[in-house]
Amino acid sequence: MERPRSEADRDRSCGTKDTFQSEAEARAHMLMNGTAAMLRTYECRYCGFLHLTSRKG
Ligand SMILES: [Zn+2]
Repeated sequence: MERPRSEADRDRSCGTKDTFQSEAEARAHMLMNGTAAMLRTYECRYCGFLHLTSRKG
């Protein structure tokens, strides 16, 4: 049995971020904003959709 850590935790991860249902949708968004070189997508463990995060390294 798994329980979410907390609602606050979930909000911090998802509430302020753009959510995408597919890689293609996220990519289109990044291209539109000129951020494709700076951001990458990752699958959110809370909502199961894609969010964007900064590339590092
Ligand atoms: Zn999420």
